[in-house]
Amino acid sequence: MLLPPNHWLPQAPLDRLDLDWLAAAGIQVAILRLDLIDPLISGNKWFKLIEHLKAADQAGAQGIISLGGAHSNHLHALAAAGQRFGFTTVGLLRGHPQDTPTVNDLQAFGMQLHWLGFGGYRARHEAGFWTPWQALYPDLWPVPEGGGGLPGAEGCVQLKAMVSEQLNGLGWNDYDGWWLACGTGTTLAGLVLAEAGEHPVYGALAVPDDHGVAQHVESIVQEAGLQLPAYELFDASRGGFAKVDPPLLDFIAQTEQACGIPLEPLYTGKALLTLKQQLDTGRFARGTRLIFIHTGGLQGRRGFHSQL
Ligand SMILES: *Cc1c(COP(=O)(O)O)cnc(C)c1O
Repeated sequence: MLLPPNHWLPQAPLDRLDLDWLAAAGIQVAILRLDLIDPLISGNKWFKLIEHLKAADQAGAQGIISLGGAHSNHLHALAAAGQRFGFTTVGLLRGHPQDTPTVNDLQAFGMQLHWLGFGGYRARHEAGFWTPWQALYPDLWPVPEGGGGLPGAEGCVQLKAMVSEQLNGLGWNDYDGWWLACGTGTTLAGLVLAEAGEHPVYGALAVPDDHGVAQHVESIVQEAGLQLPAYELFDASRGGFAKVDPPLLDFIAQTEQACGIPLEPLYTGKALLTLKQQLDTGRFARGTRLIFIHTGGLQGRRGFHSQL
């Protein structure tokens, strides 16, 4: 069994996010701290893996093969889960062999690594990409990049219940929407399915427009048969995935100093800064209550240490 028998459903705390610019705009934000669910398997990545692990178990697989970059939070969570729960993991990496804190962890967690180069990695969406890998690892279940697709989204549906159960503790009876960082859009799609139009989900795109996030969300929503999805995407990439600039780093440092919550520059920092920019343009009326998801990813921050 890849999925632990008790299904290990960690609870993330929902806390108030108190920042002067939120107060000035009259907006209330609660932050779901997925970064705190586990020291190693952090953030949204565990939830995205759950249904993939179930499918692997049903197929009788002995482990998981998946893909990512040299700072990948997805591969990190997968490798840590494999070590903890005792299943095999293989990672197909983008680019050429390099040492990063993430790669060192993957090896320490016992993940078998293959470096695909850049061209080889680009071929990941082509038909037949998995064929040689499945021949090499017939007992492993392939999981798409970032744990995406409908199974990835379905694992995130439960985040709505996790938040609903904790609203009372904040003195809230309801909320007006979600705000979160998007890479593939899978986590957002899970919330869109969970809400089924009840509350809108706002996604801050950490990747440029041409990465096909909107199409990925659309295809998940259609596959799930949801008629009236309620979501909106905002560009938060600041010129490219992994592009980091001084105002962003200042904002992250100021946020951590003001409320003690650590953010990283690729996803959560960009998402919160983009919310601030939207408030500056008057996008949300005073009195709006939002749930901001801290999607984790702090392990990847080690790759940016010299800049932070
Ligand atoms: C992977 C990741 C995301 C993006 O999640 P998607 O489901 O791919 O949109 C957001 N934040 C962090 C910290 C991540 O590691």
